[in-house]
Amino acid sequence: VQEKLDQLKSNTHNSVNSLLEDSALALAKKVDAKIENGEEIGLLEGIPFGIKDVYLLQGTYTTASSDMLKKYKSPYTATSIQKLLDAGAIPIVKENCDAFGHGSSSENTIFGAVKNAVNPELVAGGSSGGSAVNVAKNWTVFSIGGDTGGSVRQPAGYNNIYGLKPTYGRISRYGLMAYASSTDCVSPFAQNLEDLRIVLNIMSGHDIQDQTTIDSETIEADVFDTKGVKDFTVGYYRNFVESDAIDPKIKVDFMAVLEQLKAKGIKVKELDFFDGETLVATYYTIAMAETASNLSRLDGTNYGSRIYDENLKESYAITRSEMFSEESKRRIVGGNQVLSQGHSDAIYLKALELRDEIIEHFAHDFKEVDVVLSPVTPNNPPKIGNSLKDPHAMYLSDAYTVGFSLGEVPTLTIPKGTATGIQITAAKSNEATIFKFANFLK
Ligand code: GLN
Repeated sequence: VQEKLDQLKSNTHNSVNSLLEDSALALAKKVDAKIENGEEIGLLEGIPFGIKDVYLLQGTYTTASSDMLKKYKSPYTATSIQKLLDAGAIPIVKENCDAFGHGSSSENTIFGAVKNAVNPELVAGGSSGGSAVNVAKNWTVFSIGGDTGGSVRQPAGYNNIYGLKPTYGRISRYGLMAYASSTDCVSPFAQNLEDLRIVLNIMSGHDIQDQTTIDSETIEADVFDTKGVKDFTVGYYRNFVESDAIDPKIKVDFMAVLEQLKAKGIKVKELDFFDGETLVATYYTIAMAETASNLSRLDGTNYGSRIYDENLKESYAITRSEMFSEESKRRIVGGNQVLSQGHSDAIYLKALELRDEIIEHFAHDFKEVDVVLSPVTPNNPPKIGNSLKDPHAMYLSDAYTVGFSLGEVPTLTIPKGTATGIQITAAKSNEATIFKFANFLK
């Protein structure tokens, strides 16, 4: 724990919002004492981990990397984090990210742009960029990010590690600051599949505090037995690889992976899906609508910062104008626009209809194939500073991740195949199939 704290302290990647030094060292001492006394220890006892700065951990600051919540202290602990604490894991750091999860580069933050673990001139990806960098650098053993539209899978791909977005509802969102509640997923990063499996099992399960949670089966260690994978049918989406937006090298590398599978006797099936632009438009309509609603509570009254004015309404207006970033304001304004009378039928309700079609599409596709493979991103990570100039281009870079979020299906980035990894997706609640196939492909 001490070693990791020291590494985090001296890091120049801007991956840290706050270090939990005192509490972490106190917990580590307790573990030492337990071991000395010969007491039984938990599965994750003493393992140092990181937390994206959007999860409440009682007594720590949870800033969401925003001015608005810069001084906000967590009044309680998120269910997912509490389960890790109960298993003995030690939280050592609250990690930098895009404010409220708004972004794909971890530049929309008051703590400075997060620098990529492999090449610090490039973005770390986002929104869970700090968490990805900490795992990639081995400054945390695992980190808990949040994936609403790709925020764990994309930075995992940009930093060459594993990142899993589980089935929507598998892990409780209680204590995770809401971005888009209908797609927010508690999502871990790790350096290997076995660590992800353990952490996923610990955090999963129904929670009375989150009515969207579902029960799920424990994934046993024998899931990694790759016998049977030879009989799998692997699907891929033609629209993704035929798009003009894909980097030619990513396309060539991805198609080569499919060829290698065929050479091993695995059936590969081409499927049709919605094109990236439709998926991005649908996702951003829904995500902006939900974040506009979720963030309406931040007006300086009950939470976070406040700028006073004699007039109460002015006070709200000034607080929100000054304390939200440009990107967050763009989403709040956009969200209120698509929800407003005269626009909601044509835009918001249309997006909800498309989302139903996406869900049906997956139900159908996963009758025909065991897993769907796709690149994680159409392009390589941009240089720091570039994404901020063109928000629309940044939204389009999410083309391959957001559809799986809308579809509520589990999906995993593995650091193989293309420069930004490969995404493996399976039917709802079928994480086990993903683990098995990932172990085969890796
Ligand atoms: N880049 C996407 C967005 O900005 C996804 C972010 C996320 O998953 N939190 O909405």
